[in-house]
Parts: sequence; C-alpha cells; structure tokens
Amino acid sequence: MNLIEQFRDGGLAHALCDAIAAACRPDRDYRLMEVCGGHTHVIARYSLEDLLPPQVRLVHGPGCPVCVLPAGRIDLAIGLALDRGVILCTYGDMMRVPGSHRATLTRARAAGADIRMVLSTLDALRIAHENPAREVVFLGIGFETTAPATAVALKVARSEALANFSVLNNHLLTAPALRAVLGEGDETTLDGLIAPGHVSTIIGTRLYDEFAERGQGVYVAGFEPLDLLEAVLLLIRQINDRAPRVDNGYSRALTAEGNPRALAAMAETMPERRGFEWRGLGILADSATQIGEDFAAFDAERRFDLCYEPVPDPKSCICADIVRGARRPEACKLFGTVCTPDDPIGPCMVSSEGACAAQWRFGRHR
Ligand code: SF4
Repeated sequence: MNLIEQFRDGGLAHALCDAIAAACRPDRDYRLMEVCGGHTHVIARYSLEDLLPPQVRLVHGPGCPVCVLPAGRIDLAIGLALDRGVILCTYGDMMRVPGSHRATLTRARAAGADIRMVLSTLDALRIAHENPAREVVFLGIGFETTAPATAVALKVARSEALANFSVLNNHLLTAPALRAVLGEGDETTLDGLIAPGHVSTIIGTRLYDEFAERGQGVYVAGFEPLDLLEAVLLLIRQINDRAPRVDNGYSRALTAEGNPRALAAMAETMPERRGFEWRGLGILADSATQIGEDFAAFDAERRFDLCYEPVPDPKSCICADIVRGARRPEACKLFGTVCTPDDPIGPCMVSSEGACAAQWRFGRHR
C-alpha cells in the first residue's frame, strides 16, 4: 500500500467512524465547518457524510477563492482583455467563471480577446518577455496558497525591469473570512473548524489561535478521507471536553510557523491590506492583499486606472449563501436544471473547489 492509499484505507475509515459514533453525545449536535472547497470535494467524493452519525453536520465554508470572488472582479479582467488589448494570463479554473450577464473569459476569448491559460506565474513572465510590444496582465487569484507565486513574479518583474508586465491582484486572506463566518462574540452556530491544510503550509497554525481563544476548536486537516474523519473525531472530543485548541493534523506538510520564505515574499510585495468585497460576506475590511508602493508599476489596477463596480449575482443563484455555509447546493432551484457544469450560472458550479460542482460530480442526483 503506497502512502496515499494508507490515507484511504477502508478498515481504518470504519474504525474512525466507530470512534466518532462512540464519541458523539446523544443530547447534542455538532456543526463543523470545512473551510476549504478542496475538503468539500473529498467529503463528497468519498461520501463521508453518509458514514457519520446524524448529529454531526458538515457545513461548507468560504474557502473556495473562485467562489467568493464577486462577478465585478471578473468583469474587470474581461474588460482588460476585451477593451484594453492586453494579453491576459490566467489559471484555467477562471476561464468559465461568470461575470455580469454571464460573460466569461472563455466567451471574451471567442470574441477575439487574447487570453492565455498558464500553469504558473513564470509562464506569464515568459509571455511578457516574448511579447515586448504588448501589455501582459496576470490575473492573480487565491488565498495565501497561491499569493507567494504571484509575489515571486512581482519580484522577478521588478528585478528584470519588465515594463510590460502587471498583476490584477485578487489575493485574499484566510483569517478575515473566518472571522466573518464566525461573527462576533457568541453569535456563531458552528462548533468547530476544519481548517485547510494547503493554505496552512504557508500561514502556519498560529493564525488560528485567536479562534481557539474565543472558544472555537480548530483542526488543520490534509486532503485524504482519513484526514477528514480524524478531524471530525478530534473536534468532537475537543467540543465534549470544552477544551478548544488548534490541532495540527497535517504535520506531514506544515508547521506552526508556516513557510517563512513565502510569507517574506508576500510581505515584501503585498505589504498592505485593503477592504474587499466577497461574495456572500460583503465588504470585509483588511481582507485582501494590496500590492505595495515599491511594486506599484506592476499593479494592473493602478496601471490601467481600473475601478471596481459591484454587480448583483444572477437571480435565484444562491452561491452567496453557500459560501458562508447558510445553505447547501441542493437548496438551489437552478441546480442541475438551468445550472450545470457545462452551462454554469454561478461560480460554485464552475470551480474545482465549488460546492455545487462537488454535489454535481459526486452527489446522489446522478
Ligand atoms: Fe449558483 Fe448554480 Fe450553485 Fe445554484 S447550482 S447556487 S445557480 S452555482
């Protein structure tokens, strides 16, 4: 059995489920939020909810960066590509995310815009080198997981005096989103957080201490089924013991301090914080990164004098409720009828981390 298979072992999974059932108190429910869309997909793929006792409820969280990005931000990227003649470089999962009026980068490309899918920021830098007469904009998106790669691109661009390269920055911060879904004081209905392993490899686990201090158990989990079942078990034990703390269940990949080199690159290139509108959470103060003054020449928003305009989500799409855990994809009347992966209405059906995409792919409707 290879390393990955060990984290998918059926016998161990059933043993963990037995331990979860034994740990659950019959007189209460346990509402646990899996913050990350990657976790949502693992839960759906392995039908983990079906293995849990009925008093354990898993709630989707705001950790899919594509899903929480409001349509107006997609509009900015489409406008740059269509109206300003830039080469827009983007990761593939952004291509079919709807902006306003169901516009997408895919449709913009079909209309003649020069939009190129890249696998890394280095690809975008290469394209800028190969096209010195064209403006090249990299669409930066993601939490602290992907922000370091954008930070490195900014550093390289400045060191090489790459005058035709800039970044349309949509890199978000994890902690403000968690504060927003938990609310103030005792108002949360959540009993524990399953925190994302990959972003925590960058930010470490100390960032979650504030949530444990206010009574919220946190378990940082990896992305295999046994990781998640163990997370459920240990959070239930924390809750029963009334002893909230931060458990690192992903010690094979992360430390309490995170990745100092990645954090340093972010601090150098994106030292400021700014208010940012999130789908479902509204405008959150200091919730996104801001490219610093030293790198202002590489900031596409300043370079092209862009102005963000909020636009409403499509009528009847409940992505805003889904990303904050208020409703589930099955509650959307468009799910699987008007809205499918081939013809998505909202981002939750497009993104590889979206809850609707997970439900479509692995849910019982099939
Ligand atoms: Fe939005 Fe489609 Fe999900 Fe409904 S099924 S919430 S329309 S993405």
